[in-house]
Amino acid sequence: MPENYTSSLGRPLLQIPGPTNLPAAVLTAIARPTIDHRSPEFARLTGRLLKGMQELVGSGDPVVIYPSSGSGAWEAALTNALAPGQQLLVCVNGHFAALWCDVATRLGFAAQVLEGDWRQPVDSAAVEAGLRADTNHAIKAVALVHNETSTGVVNDIAAVRQALDRAGHPALLMVDTISSLASMDYRHDEWGVDITVAASQKGLMLPPGLSFNVVSQRALAAAQDNPMPRSYWDWRAVLEANERGFFPYTPATNLLFGLEAALDMLTAEGLARVTARHARHARAVRAAVQAWGLEIYCRSAAAHSPTLTAVLMPENHDADQFRRTVEGRFDLALGTGLGPLQGRLFRIGHLGALDDLMLAGALCGVAMGLRLEGVPHQSGGLEAALEILAAEEGH
Ligand code: PLP
Repeated sequence: MPENYTSSLGRPLLQIPGPTNLPAAVLTAIARPTIDHRSPEFARLTGRLLKGMQELVGSGDPVVIYPSSGSGAWEAALTNALAPGQQLLVCVNGHFAALWCDVATRLGFAAQVLEGDWRQPVDSAAVEAGLRADTNHAIKAVALVHNETSTGVVNDIAAVRQALDRAGHPALLMVDTISSLASMDYRHDEWGVDITVAASQKGLMLPPGLSFNVVSQRALAAAQDNPMPRSYWDWRAVLEANERGFFPYTPATNLLFGLEAALDMLTAEGLARVTARHARHARAVRAAVQAWGLEIYCRSAAAHSPTLTAVLMPENHDADQFRRTVEGRFDLALGTGLGPLQGRLFRIGHLGALDDLMLAGALCGVAMGLRLEGVPHQSGGLEAALEILAAEEGH
């Protein structure tokens, strides 16, 4: 008999900050028989998906869809927009920004790190100062993560855009929206983003396996005569094939069926309500954590993530031991601490396909785990969360 025999009778709760729980409509769509990816039916699907993704990011700019995880879309953004050895400024205030920076370095670009406080949003004044110092405009791109999944800190993209504008610097702006898109407010055009990087397994409520670049005309122009060697990730080949509704290689057909179902669900709910739903769930989680007397890793109230909450473990308690207990006993998966935060914090994902009772169940699992592991905390966390869920209408 498995250790978690009773919970294996119910449903596992996937409360990591992506991949997320999948809605039945998405699973059903993915289960459809695969079709010919060179058929007229497929071409019509491609057209609908590209338009749907444009609406989601708030842009008429071209969308490139890859059959890859999010890291592929990082590499695509870099290799299309930057020539060999060119400089970029990477704003690092978390593990994923640091990884993106590593990718740039491994590809031979000159990545300058703007090291920030991991518990605070990126300092746009520091970005401005860094760009002003670059008087001959050697920096060709500024890269940052919208929602840092490792810390639960949201970066203010509009403020960083303004920093570029104030500095009068022509660098392209690259933004990773992997754990923000379809969960919180995001505006590719209005915020003057040149490359939006996204992936399927978070707010889009799909399994991992699709990634995206949304590309401004300036970024496309930079890619046009760029001598950087690239093949699989080359925007030009994908965009050219997309004009006929196709791809230069075999697309992830069934994930694309799922994407259509997810986009339909998001459209039916309305993006404003999707955003409000995530913000409300985040408020409930923070209320619980604060009432327990535990510390939220993000130190800036204005930058608390709507999609995940990172909770610091009290001294001498191992966050991974706590997570193992919760998973083993209750079939509840919580996110681990990443990089230097390993063992120090756990992350509660509250994004994607999630309703009030699933969230309440997840918080119950956390509460029981705290008891089982003897983690010092106060009572009242669950009540604080339930009060918010009961008082504030979901829709
Ligand atoms: N960027 C962010 C913000 C992420 O959260 C992740 C993964 O969780 C990635 C990039 C890497 O994406 P993937 O693991 O799909 O390659």
